[in-house]
Amino acid sequence: MTVYLVGAGPGDPGLMTARSIELIAAADVIVYDRLIPPEALAGARPDAELIYVGKEGGGPSMPQTQIEALLLEHGRAGRSVVRLKGGDPFVFGRGGEEAEALTEAGIAYEVVPGVTAGVAAAAYAGIPVTHRGLASAVAFLTGHEDPDKPESALDWSALARFSGTLVLYMGVRQLASIAERLIRAGRDPEEPAAVVQRGTLPDQRVVEATLGTIAAAAQDAGVKAPAITVVGPVAALGDQLGWLDARPLSGMTVAVTRAREQASDLAGRLRELGAAVIQAPAIRIVPLKPALPHLARYDLVCLTSPNGVRLLFEAMADAGLDARALAGATVAAIGPGTAAALAQRGVMADVVPERFVAESLVAALRDVPVSHALIARAAAARDVLPDALRERGAEVDVLALYETVAEPLRDDQRAGVARADYITFTSSSTVTYFLQSAGRDAIGGARLISIGPVTSATLREHGLEPHVEAARHDIDGVIDALVDDAAGRRAETTALS
Ligand code: SAH
Repeated sequence: MTVYLVGAGPGDPGLMTARSIELIAAADVIVYDRLIPPEALAGARPDAELIYVGKEGGGPSMPQTQIEALLLEHGRAGRSVVRLKGGDPFVFGRGGEEAEALTEAGIAYEVVPGVTAGVAAAAYAGIPVTHRGLASAVAFLTGHEDPDKPESALDWSALARFSGTLVLYMGVRQLASIAERLIRAGRDPEEPAAVVQRGTLPDQRVVEATLGTIAAAAQDAGVKAPAITVVGPVAALGDQLGWLDARPLSGMTVAVTRAREQASDLAGRLRELGAAVIQAPAIRIVPLKPALPHLARYDLVCLTSPNGVRLLFEAMADAGLDARALAGATVAAIGPGTAAALAQRGVMADVVPERFVAESLVAALRDVPVSHALIARAAAARDVLPDALRERGAEVDVLALYETVAEPLRDDQRAGVARADYITFTSSSTVTYFLQSAGRDAIGGARLISIGPVTSATLREHGLEPHVEAARHDIDGVIDALVDDAAGRRAETTALS
């Protein structure tokens, strides 16, 4: 086993490396700092030991020697230890000191570089740290030095002469004195400068000024740590190259309540549109593994969800069957996701209703002769479909393939939801279980997006009115509804300001 010194990137979870995600998922112990991405620990094993060693609200952090002692202790115990840091572990991250301590103790370690804030926060503000014709070199410096040092280790006159971009980490509070020292040492006060606060995170802010005015501008804007400061001609490019605000869900935080196994598609697409995503899975899918009935006796097989398709095919595989076992039946699917899951397994659904609720399937099946029907679905579901088919004289078997159970939310997930601009509900069970585990208060001021009328009805049963109901009752529909609503709200804010 090894100790891994891992960079988690500057904040946007999409900027975590594949290696970091892999190591987090496998770790026995994760020793982490404050400035790691909010979702970085989401993929940790439920039984992993998570040890926080960062500062809380400006208070003291765990002394470095104690952190190193922790790494040695767990490393010696033969556990897989991830030392997780914001950005890159070797850029103002004291990773070098930890590597020294491990080397000295003879403990094997691996370094996993991360995307460093000085490059990434600048890039998210539209600032390339080098640029042909404007900057052929870049220097990273710290604005917060070891307070035990009697004199600055930085050579201000060399930095003033340096003909490249300066990227300053830390030290937002010292910005005025740093700028003054640079100017006194000969750097041009008219040179462009920009401060990027919480770069790559949904609430990123950028303040642009000149070296002479940046400290006052940052103070007026109330800039706080974490922030980097860029000094150099490239700092003026943000105006032209700011690409971030152009995305439809930029600046929006969206909570996703569906089961973790199903959430990645929705979460990934929301992130692509610029949203910050809070994963708050309120439900978990538990397979029931029922005995498979003799499929050849059915002339209609109905599937109501992608999970149902997956589990039916697993049950069929266990029985030595494949898609041909459905050859004699009409296959009906509620929703394009269900139809797509079937298509992946080589079955093109015969009937996919226009609207994705059981009532529409009943209507779509009106002219299909049915004598024996199998409905493969969740244990608890509405009986609209079986009742309607029985009424028509068909014999109906319901195959309960899975159960949806409540997944308790962790405190950090609940806190994340409380900050969200939107909460998405993609089924009635997400509503019921979310409210059960998070409570009504967790909703705060968020706008509620419902996938369709059944989910909306469940919200109303709990006294909550959905702000938006998707016109198409699937994930595409939920995303369209969100983008429309966000555009509408943005237009309102612009009109007001
Ligand atoms: N190892 C980290 C730096 C740690 S020092 C890295 O490579 O990025 C902490 C400093 O990093 C903060 O004071 C701030 O200057 C900068 N920083 C970290 N995350 C940031 C972010 N999201 N936006 C702007 N600056 C950030």
